[in-house]
Amino acid sequence: MQIGIEIFTVNKRNPLTISRGTTAQTTNIWVQVKQDGIEGWGEASPFSLGNCQQSTETLKDALQQVAPKLEKFSPLERQRVELVLLEMQVPSSARAALDMALHDWLGKRVGLPLWQMWGLDRNVIVPTSVTIGINSPQAAKGRVRDWLQFTDVRVFKIKLGNPNGIRADQEMLMAVREEAPAKDLYVDANGGWSLADAVTMCNWLENLGVKYVEQPLPQGEEYNLAQLKERSPLPIFVDESCLTSRDIPQLANCVDGINIKLMKAGGLTEVMRMVHTARASGLQVMFGCYSDSSLSNTAAAHLSSLADYLDLDSHLNLKDDPFVGATIQNGRLLPNDQPGLGVRRAAEA
Ligand SMILES: [Mg+2]
Repeated sequence: MQIGIEIFTVNKRNPLTISRGTTAQTTNIWVQVKQDGIEGWGEASPFSLGNCQQSTETLKDALQQVAPKLEKFSPLERQRVELVLLEMQVPSSARAALDMALHDWLGKRVGLPLWQMWGLDRNVIVPTSVTIGINSPQAAKGRVRDWLQFTDVRVFKIKLGNPNGIRADQEMLMAVREEAPAKDLYVDANGGWSLADAVTMCNWLENLGVKYVEQPLPQGEEYNLAQLKERSPLPIFVDESCLTSRDIPQLANCVDGINIKLMKAGGLTEVMRMVHTARASGLQVMFGCYSDSSLSNTAAAHLSSLADYLDLDSHLNLKDDPFVGATIQNGRLLPNDQPGLGVRRAAEA
């Protein structure tokens, strides 16, 4: 097979602030695998979590180094390809792009959308949340109105963990609640709380229509999760504390669920392993994203019948998404009937 690597920059309609900082723009990588006149597409997007820093440059270098070593394989040989990627310690986002592209190629080869190849039921896909970043209460209200005008929203995910403390979190949450009184809310603190703050906030949020709280404690403070779970009336999910299936067994008794992302996992293959490991450990599952375009979020959407909650909204906040794939219908991000991922260039839309 031949492998093409192209970088592209995407700009957010509204910059997103979380407890760790603000993002307005990212440069992602578009990977194409080609064989027998068929092209499979994948995307790598950068992210940074504690010791795991995957910049665009790192990802591009890793892909350029590994590509010549993969040319002898057919896109059908995913197990062999995965072995080479692991041996060469290719970062997870770059592995995700290649694994996605190989799956897209396979679906196109056999003429079936991926969700159908896996025998999944599109009807059980739950609505995706859309994100309200850390803002002043007034600005958060403006973001709620903007989302409601822009698309069919059924759930908001609210970023808390404001560096100014939980008082600021409460004021912003109340503002969102006022603006959208009937919507379900999810909360993501991105590790911005102490154990004491997390206990206070989980109890406070319970009466405000919040369904679960994601990553209340910082990555590295997993030893406090069991105590928090004991004292929280709301389900606790982890994101930064759970990268791959290996992290799941030790979290099983400390949390209620995990947030799975293609870029952390290293592809659809590992996402599937994570889903099964989580289920076997009695955990719930959500799918999330980084600054991914429609390409990656469509790939996640193909597996999304397997998730209890979905947060696949990053592409909806892009001014210049280069791709079109899964579309929002009644608040749900649904993959289409085209073979493979069913993604095309926006210019061809
Ligand atoms: Mg998160």
